[in-house]
Amino acid sequence: MTVTFFPAEPAAGATVLGASIHCPADPRQDRRRFRDYTAATAGLAEHHQFCTDPWCAGQAGYVVEHRSTDGEPRLNLASVHARTLLRALGLCPEIGAGDLHPATMAGIAPSTPQDAEDALVGSLPAELMLGRVELALAAAPDDAGVPATEHRDGAVIDCGRPVGWLQTRLAVLREVTLYARAHQRDVVWV
Ligand SMILES: [Zn+2]
Repeated sequence: MTVTFFPAEPAAGATVLGASIHCPADPRQDRRRFRDYTAATAGLAEHHQFCTDPWCAGQAGYVVEHRSTDGEPRLNLASVHARTLLRALGLCPEIGAGDLHPATMAGIAPSTPQDAEDALVGSLPAELMLGRVELALAAAPDDAGVPATEHRDGAVIDCGRPVGWLQTRLAVLREVTLYARAHQRDVVWV
């Protein structure tokens, strides 16, 4: 499972700029450009006339839609890493005092593992996200990284994090956030 941080869609929706047909052929042989997804889907029937790739044999074509938002900055992370980033941003609930002293915290729901999952989907106005990113960049100690580990019992493999991981990901998220702010959009993660 992965989580992607990106600028929210424009209020009027992304503009479809056209569509094309891709397949295993590299470089692409079928260079036709269609006005939209429907036209390209109809064009799949003639793909074999434009493509002689042996792996495709004219049969493995699929439609790729081109949208005005395609080139926008985004940050894609494995969910375990997204949780680390959200924690640095103060956006991932942790086990708090309420869990340690439930009797004195009556009426306050303790955080649960489900809360941590819920945090992997959200949105924030770009200005607020920028504040959190700047704060995290200023406050976070240099990420010492985590060595890769493999848990054979549960088939969970943690690939670890290289040194400086947090800072470089925060820098990319800052780009995403600045773009969103320049276009009056929220930052979304899902
Ligand atoms: Zn092909």
